[in-house]
Amino acid sequence: MRTEFLPFSRPSITEEDISAVGDVLRSGWITTGPNVTGFERAFCEYVGCKNAVALSSATAGMHLALEALDIGPGDEVITPSMTWVSTINLIVLAGATPVFADVDKDTLMISPDWVEESISPKTRLIVPVHFAGAAADMAYLRRIAARIEVPLVEDAAHALGTRYSGAHVGKEGTSIFSFHPIKNITTGEGGMFCSDNEDLIEHINRLKFHGLGVDAYDRQTQGRSPQAEVLEPGYKYNMTDMAAVLGLRQLGRVDEFIRKRAALAIRYRELLSEIDEILPLSVPPDTTRHAWHLFIVRLDTDRARLSRDDFMAELKKRDIGTGLHFRAVHLQKYYRESMDMRRGMLPNTEWNSDRICSLPLFPDMTFEDVDDVVEAVKDVLRK
Ligand SMILES: *Cc1c(COP(=O)(O)O)cnc(C)c1O
Repeated sequence: MRTEFLPFSRPSITEEDISAVGDVLRSGWITTGPNVTGFERAFCEYVGCKNAVALSSATAGMHLALEALDIGPGDEVITPSMTWVSTINLIVLAGATPVFADVDKDTLMISPDWVEESISPKTRLIVPVHFAGAAADMAYLRRIAARIEVPLVEDAAHALGTRYSGAHVGKEGTSIFSFHPIKNITTGEGGMFCSDNEDLIEHINRLKFHGLGVDAYDRQTQGRSPQAEVLEPGYKYNMTDMAAVLGLRQLGRVDEFIRKRAALAIRYRELLSEIDEILPLSVPPDTTRHAWHLFIVRLDTDRARLSRDDFMAELKKRDIGTGLHFRAVHLQKYYRESMDMRRGMLPNTEWNSDRICSLPLFPDMTFEDVDDVVEAVKDVLRK
């Protein structure tokens, strides 16, 4: 048994990362500036996308996407309930209606058949989630979106490094990445909005900084007038240079991070295959590279005669941290009550919502840590 707590995630930060941030702090320019520009360029190069806008979070990116696409009252957005609450909250805050599609039981990817069935004359947007580091069925979703002439915004928060049919997620279309500390790379907090739609990018650039269409750095370096005019009311969602320099450095190591995550995941899958009560997710065939953002398992609660919440608590007693990605959004208090959501509406989402648990997975973890987790799981299930 362990003597030291193993968190379910921990960012990999080197002394060089810390001194790079220190250099920015000492430079006299700490907000949006050359490091943001450099990070956006490097990100485009890595992902293969045409344009990238660095933001204060992925949530900010989703907010701006809804705003730029003019999603509001009377509009419906099709998205999974098996997702992080931020997307659903923003849809509701925009005055629009989330329409939940169920997911595949074993990959947690949005089911294109459910998307088809959820289409109505009010459908204005589809937001799939690339879950856990694998990729959603984009070929099918793109066909649907093209047919009904509705945009797709891909939630790629888990998908930095993920390849779908050989191409990086986000290379085409519109996608949003996250750099929250548990994600595959971090900037503390941060996000990236990528799109091959030039008009949309221009709009996002304007909305992210007061609707001026120019940020503080542009004004300083390009000699634009400090009296730049508001073209439309905007927000304050720009990324700082302190964050961007960290992102740049982390991006340089992302392939190394993913190699390490993949090796740990292989060991997990091997060791867990002997435990009947533990069911890992399966990998969709079109995911040509899994980024292993999360290692999610489902507890067979009947066989184990243990609830998932008790399972997590027992692991914690054994110094093993876990995460829950995610509790179905439609069953959370506000959505249950305000939208009249009930159990039974989304069977695969609900089945997983009661059984999923994310085991520790991060690049600085060791194989011995994986062995400790598996031993602790076995110990919990023996009791
Ligand atoms: C983390 C996450 C987000 C939000 O990212 P932030 O950068 O924290 O705003 C959105 N969607 C999913 C699926 C996530 O996991």
